[in-house]
Amino acid sequence: MQIENASPRGKRHFMQYENTLAFARRMDREDPLRAFRSQFLFPKHDDKPAFYFCGNSLGLQPKTMRRALMQELDQWQQYGVEGHFKGEMPWMYYHKFLKNQSAQVVGALPEEVVVMNTLTVNLHLMMVSFYRPTAQRYKIIMEAGAFPSDQYAMETQVRWHGYAPEDAIIEIAPRAGEENLRNEDIIAIIEQTGDQLALVMFAGVNYYTGQFFDLESITQAAHRVGALAGFDLAHTAGNLPLRLHDWGADFAVWCSYKYMNSGPGGPSGAFVHARHAHNPDLPRFAGWWGHDESERFQMRKGFKPMVGADGWQLSNAQIFAFAAHKASLDIFEAAGMDNLRKKSLLLTGYLEWILDQVNPDGERFKLITPRDPAARGCQLSVLTDASGRALFDYLSENGVICDWREPNVIRFAPAPLYNSFEDVWRLGQLLRL
Ligand SMILES: *Cc1c(COP(=O)(O)O)cnc(C)c1O
Repeated sequence: MQIENASPRGKRHFMQYENTLAFARRMDREDPLRAFRSQFLFPKHDDKPAFYFCGNSLGLQPKTMRRALMQELDQWQQYGVEGHFKGEMPWMYYHKFLKNQSAQVVGALPEEVVVMNTLTVNLHLMMVSFYRPTAQRYKIIMEAGAFPSDQYAMETQVRWHGYAPEDAIIEIAPRAGEENLRNEDIIAIIEQTGDQLALVMFAGVNYYTGQFFDLESITQAAHRVGALAGFDLAHTAGNLPLRLHDWGADFAVWCSYKYMNSGPGGPSGAFVHARHAHNPDLPRFAGWWGHDESERFQMRKGFKPMVGADGWQLSNAQIFAFAAHKASLDIFEAAGMDNLRKKSLLLTGYLEWILDQVNPDGERFKLITPRDPAARGCQLSVLTDASGRALFDYLSENGVICDWREPNVIRFAPAPLYNSFEDVWRLGQLLRL
C-alpha cells in the first residue's frame, strides 16, 4: 500500500509500509535520529522497557537530566547565595540561557519568548494584557472541547471583567457527524463575530482529537476583524515546527513536560509578539523579575518593564525546573524540529497504517485524528466502542503505556525523539487480537 506523506514544507513523498518486524527494523536502522532513543530512560514492564506512547502527557526522562540537576545542587552547596553570580550558569541570568533554544522550538525571535511559571498561570498573565474587553468588543472564540484548564481560565477571565461566559465565549464545534473542525468554519465564525470579537484563543493541537489547527490563517482572520489571536501550545511545542513570529500570533503559552520532556510540572514558556515588545503601556500584572534589569536591585518605586517577553516575568527563576528544561532543550537543539517532524510524519504515518491493518473494516475503533498529516502532529486518537476499556487494560498488561480519555478514547503518541518503528509494529501485533 502506498502512503502519501507531506514533508514539513508541503512537498510530498511516498512511503511503502510493511507490517513486518524486518521492515520496522530497517526503518529504525535508516532513521537519522535513531541515536536519540538511547538518551532516554524507559519505564520497565516485566524487566523490559515499556512501549511508551504517552509523550503527549509526560515525556520520558533524558539521561542528561540527573547531571543537570546535580550541577545546580553542587552550585548551591559550593556558593550559597553567590550562586546567583558565580559558576557556569549564574542563577541571576538563568532564564536567558533558555531563550534562544525556546525561540527555535516555537519559531520566534529570542526577545519574544521567556520561560517562567507554569502554563495556566501564564495563560492568565497573557489574558491580563491581551483580553481587554469593551462594551462593543468582548467576545472570545475558542475550540469546543478545549482542555479544561483553558476552559476554566476563559470562563473566569470573562466573569472577572463582568461578562457572562454563555454570551462572551463562542465555542466552535465540528459539524454534525464530524470529529474535527474545518478551517473554513473557524474563519467564517471569526468573520461573523466581527467587531464584537476581542480574542481568538485556540489550542495549537487539540489534546483530545490531536487536530493541528491552521494557526496562521486563524491569526490573519482575527486581525482582519480587529481582534487578537493567542494560542495554547501545550500539545504543540516540541511536536510540530512552528513559526509564531511569521504567523503573527499575538501571544502563546506552552508547557515543557509533554513533548518537551522536562519532567512533571516542568516550567512553561510564553511568547509575546515583537509588535507588543516595546509597549510599556500594555496593562500587566508585574513582579520584580519583569522590571528593567539594570535597575532591578535599586528597589525603587515605579514598574518599568523589560523589553519583550521578559517584561512579563514575575519571580526569579525556578532553578531546578529550569535546569531540567535546559537539559531537554539541548536535545531539541541537537535533533532540530524539522528533522523531528520529518521522522514524526513517517512514524505516525506508520502507526496510522498499522491501525488500519488491524482494523480493516473500522469495526473495532475509529480514528478521530485527521487523516491529513498536515493537520496533526505525533498523536493519533482512536474512539473505541464499549469494549475499549478492556482493550486499554489489555494493552497496559502487555507493557504499552498510552492513555485513556473519558468517555472512550485511547491516545497514542509516538514521539520521534525516542519511539521506534519497532515500537509501533509491536503495538500493532498486540492490537491484532
Ligand atoms: C496539559 C495542558 C494544560 C496543563 O496546564 P498546567 O498549568 O501546566 O497544569 C493546560 N492546557 C492545555 C491545552 C494542556 O494540554
